Amino acid sequence: MHHLRSTSAVVRFRFAALLWLVICLLAPVAAGLLVQSVLADNFGLTLAGAGLAVVGVGLFIAQWAAGARTDCPLCWTPVLAPKACMKHRRAKTFLGSHRLRVALAILFQNQFRCPYCNESTALELPNSLHRPPNRWAQLD
Ligand SMILES: [Zn+2]
Repeated sequence: MHHLRSTSAVVRFRFAALLWLVICLLAPVAAGLLVQSVLADNFGLTLAGAGLAVVGVGLFIAQWAAGARTDCPLCWTPVLAPKACMKHRRAKTFLGSHRLRVALAILFQNQFRCPYCNESTALELPNSLHRPPNRWAQLD
């Protein structure tokens, strides 16, 4: 199992995964509100649906920026960004989405399996990076 190299990378992976999960939940709600508002001819629902859609677009841009720097430590392909690269033949999906499966695994299992190289990565630092800050002082 591979590991990420820094604490900031772990935070970046979790942030991008959380944004992608919120977008996946927000998009159907906004679309449903807009369709319901058209069917019910309710201007208040139209405003709510349009507001959620605008928030969703903003979150999508933020996720696009954060997801571009979520590189797999083995193959260096961003796992939470849209890529047209070929996926591994054994890569699994969740509801037809590789990115949603990776996001859910990051948030709930603290690890993910890269859809491009099919290697698993833990969202924790390797043991070699857990050194005390003043280890040279302990040698004296
Ligand atoms: Zn990979």
